[in-house]
Amino acid sequence: MSPSHELLQRLPDGTVKQVNPFTGTQVWTMPGRGKRPLPAALDEPTPLPPGGVADSCAFCPGHHLDNPPEKARLVRDGDGWRTLTGLDVSQLDATEPDFRRIPNLFEICSADYWRLNHGVLPTQEVQERAREYLADPDGRAHLDRVWRLKHRLQKETGDPSAEDLLRAAVGWLGTTHELVIPRRHHVDGATDTAQLASSGELTVSEHRAYFSMSVQAMADLYRSNAAVRYVSVFQNWLKPAGASFEHLHRQVVAIDEVGAHVDGAADTLARNPNAFNEYLLDVAIEHGLVLAANDHAVAIAGFGHRYPSIEIYSLADRQEPWRLSPVQLDAMSDLVHAMHAAGGARLSCNEEWHHRPPQLDEGPVETDLPVPFRIVLKWRISTLAGFEGATKIYLNTLSPWDVRDRVLPELERLRAEGRIAGMRIGDECRLPKGSIPV
Ligand SMILES: [Zn+2]
Repeated sequence: MSPSHELLQRLPDGTVKQVNPFTGTQVWTMPGRGKRPLPAALDEPTPLPPGGVADSCAFCPGHHLDNPPEKARLVRDGDGWRTLTGLDVSQLDATEPDFRRIPNLFEICSADYWRLNHGVLPTQEVQERAREYLADPDGRAHLDRVWRLKHRLQKETGDPSAEDLLRAAVGWLGTTHELVIPRRHHVDGATDTAQLASSGELTVSEHRAYFSMSVQAMADLYRSNAAVRYVSVFQNWLKPAGASFEHLHRQVVAIDEVGAHVDGAADTLARNPNAFNEYLLDVAIEHGLVLAANDHAVAIAGFGHRYPSIEIYSLADRQEPWRLSPVQLDAMSDLVHAMHAAGGARLSCNEEWHHRPPQLDEGPVETDLPVPFRIVLKWRISTLAGFEGATKIYLNTLSPWDVRDRVLPELERLRAEGRIAGMRIGDECRLPKGSIPV
């Protein structure tokens, strides 16, 4: 039996059974449920005041002092972008950032985590910058404000000592959990609360900047300390996907394990270096599930995921995102952007990045395993229930072909309107099997 048959089967009644080749996840799509409109993950819209300001959002311009000290910002510079780092409080309003990197107020792995579990201390540079930040009266007021904000959210009271503020500053300036935040909350000219500035609403150039800033954050976090084994990058869009803010943001988190996904991919690749072609991209090509492609990346309707999914693969011969050329990185960005745009701003979705960590080869067995850089978008249109818990078989309302049939016409429309980058769509792709370099 070919892998293609085992991994993706259509039964006589129309039921689609899918198996994920790397995780073994089993998914069924029952027939006749794919034509329904997708549920919108937003409350009933209410009118926005002129200017479209969301007053209570800590990620919006005007609220920069509600966030911990900024790591970096991107500002427009002619047709391009300029990165500014290490700004003091007095410099925050001097430029208008389109994208910012800031520490997450509630990080997954804290400075204590790295110190107590791994003996890793903040760098000299971080400690010096924290002392300087605290010595500046505006800086101290900023740290005090964010410290109180955090403790209020944790339902704690009290006043911070200078030592508390220094510790907080060291934690934030040396953070291993960053957010990358675009400027807009709503689209320009929005008149109601539902007109959110999603990934797909960014321009092609803005999405490229957002994407490469996320890759830079990832590379920086790998360098931040020796105990970092993996940097997880993800974006949760709207509440069903786990987002606590409607303001678009991506998270970049350093952890001390590579996680089951990388382990699973590494195990499979150790047995068959061509696994991502044979079990995945070739299967998608054979079943007509290619959505779009450009010279360095391809997007397919995914299979074997708990939710209807789109997978975007880099076809670059290098696996680590920070080693891709700007053109190769932009190619990934363009497809991710187009797929978000095709899903629409009201569709709740998780964006999960997968890549080869730099230390993967240090184990006794693995040697240069070709784990491709890929991004999975999961449409959060259903809720897992008892059946899934009891059987570990997941029910999807949309088969991979249903996803394809929804996405292709949207891509055609968006391309005709010039809202996405140039790319080949559907049958235009003519991708040969074995396209992922090994
Ligand atoms: Zn906002």
